[in-house]
Amino acid sequence: MVHFAPISTHKQRVKQWMTRPFIALLLLSIPTSIFCQFQGLNPYVYSSPLSIQVPAPRYFTKSVGTFQAPRKLYWYADPTLQNQAQRAITLLSHGLEEMLSYTTPTNITFIETYNPKKAQIVINGPANYPNPNNLQIPTIEQQYYSLEIEKKKITIYLGGVAAAFHLYSNLQQWIYYYTDVAPYIFPDQTYYPLNCASIKDYPESRYRGMHLDIVRHFFRQEHIAQMLDAMSIYKFNVLHLHLTDDQGWRIEIPSLPKLQYTAAYRNGSQIGPYKNQEYDTLKYGGFLTRNNIRFLVKKADELGITIIPEIEMPGHALAALAAYPNLSCIGGKIIQQKASNNPTNLAENTISPFEVATGWGVFDDVFCAGNEETFKFLETVLTDVIELFPNSPYIHIGGDECPKTRWKSCPKCQKRIQTEGLHDEHELQSYFIRRIEKFVNSKGRKIIGWDEILEGGLAPDATVMSWRGELGGLAAAQQKHNAIMTPGKPLYFDHFQSKDSTEPHAIGGFNPLDAVYNYSPFPSSKKIIQFNDLQDTISPYILGAQGNVWTEYMPTWDHVQYMTNPRLQALSEGLWLPDSRKNFNDFIQRIKLHTTLWSYYGIERWGNHFFQTQAIEH
Ligand SMILES: [Zn+2]
Repeated sequence: MVHFAPISTHKQRVKQWMTRPFIALLLLSIPTSIFCQFQGLNPYVYSSPLSIQVPAPRYFTKSVGTFQAPRKLYWYADPTLQNQAQRAITLLSHGLEEMLSYTTPTNITFIETYNPKKAQIVINGPANYPNPNNLQIPTIEQQYYSLEIEKKKITIYLGGVAAAFHLYSNLQQWIYYYTDVAPYIFPDQTYYPLNCASIKDYPESRYRGMHLDIVRHFFRQEHIAQMLDAMSIYKFNVLHLHLTDDQGWRIEIPSLPKLQYTAAYRNGSQIGPYKNQEYDTLKYGGFLTRNNIRFLVKKADELGITIIPEIEMPGHALAALAAYPNLSCIGGKIIQQKASNNPTNLAENTISPFEVATGWGVFDDVFCAGNEETFKFLETVLTDVIELFPNSPYIHIGGDECPKTRWKSCPKCQKRIQTEGLHDEHELQSYFIRRIEKFVNSKGRKIIGWDEILEGGLAPDATVMSWRGELGGLAAAQQKHNAIMTPGKPLYFDHFQSKDSTEPHAIGGFNPLDAVYNYSPFPSSKKIIQFNDLQDTISPYILGAQGNVWTEYMPTWDHVQYMTNPRLQALSEGLWLPDSRKNFNDFIQRIKLHTTLWSYYGIERWGNHFFQTQAIEH
């Protein structure tokens, strides 16, 4: 039997945090009032840890009495569960042990038993427990959990491994309630009896993701780890990591060393608003090593999160072309084009070497679709990526914003169009994606692409990530392809969250907290007439949604935190609950009590306008 070390508990984390002398010193210098945000809370409203839980459980009923924990508390987990989900069960039992220690004056000794009749805590699962290693985003049934708290017994049902992580997320918040919130509301109590109650809970969206762009600005292992922690507290199950683009290549591929030496660094960065076209000249870059990635994948797995890697193709490839210009149509950057307007005639044009992009936007130079070397290169990269992300059912291959300018005049690309019997460059893009899909499928994985992969015909088993609104996702679902919704409005967290003039510069747009909270990816909530009648047939193909954090205008991690929190938390409840159960004002009351919890995980910054239910117009 494999032994998994449990993740450090909340208490341990606090301890680790407090023992850092610098932080401890800082704490002493902060006025004590900051720690009293819980004083004066109504004890009737905040009588249980559920009063601060985000996302709120779907069904909750309270009954008379409290759980009476014996001095020796026996817990039992179904043997099938133990075999399939040993690590999750270990984590859960540690969480329960810690949580219960606040609910009774007794010192409890937690003992595992193989006899369910003897146990005060019984953890059950379905008869046919799903194999957790079958490379898929867990189904709704696998994410379902229930918790029955009676006077003498606690009964837990877990639909799958994912459900264990969801319950553990609750426990993290409940322990926080007992350690940090309850002592202010009930200053005379030394423990907080656990009320008899029943919780039945499952998410509305099967896929609940966050995305992070580490290309436009590079964020290290520790930052990404911090995001995983924040996601885990709020029951997210996917982190989509944007690893390559025009402005940098951020994943180590040892057999292609120029990706590390050349493609990972740029000679400056665009600064300020896009229209100003101002740049600095500082060398900027970095990349995640294979060990960084192994660490993050393992950590994510221990938190019930899948990391989906994204390798952009055929566009957004300038960094790779700067390292390997032979993979482009022309071999370099055209700096002066002669009147004959024949960009392939090198003699007539002035060509300079490609450089990793310093500015934002979309670039004409893309991978050559007529060159076999391009596919050889990408297959080498994808082979490494697939090995490094063993838990991800999907490899995101980008597919967005690929100008066809070079392909139109490239002899190799044109020859490919001819030999493959394609109509135009859009079908050439489709050929490109289908060919890559075939390779990815041969390694047992599936592809996700941005909604542009619909153009020229969808690859047979591709999942579409809909970012230019929702029509792409809905059209994919209509074609019986899975879709994930990430419409710029309201799920791009690089947009403004308030119209207040003090907000830091952002890419544009306006995605306030309430819009994020009220978002649902399903057609029932849409005002799109042509899809109204297709609700039942389309919905099963919509896996869920994710919030995207593009970082052109977020140069520091501090800034990423500012733009992400609390929109991340709003999205977590928005994707967990059905529209009928959502209550934005109630969410605000709960989430504003979480800031101390965040600080334990290194989140020190959040949107200025957090406490406003309406953003300021000016
Ligand atoms: Zn070409």
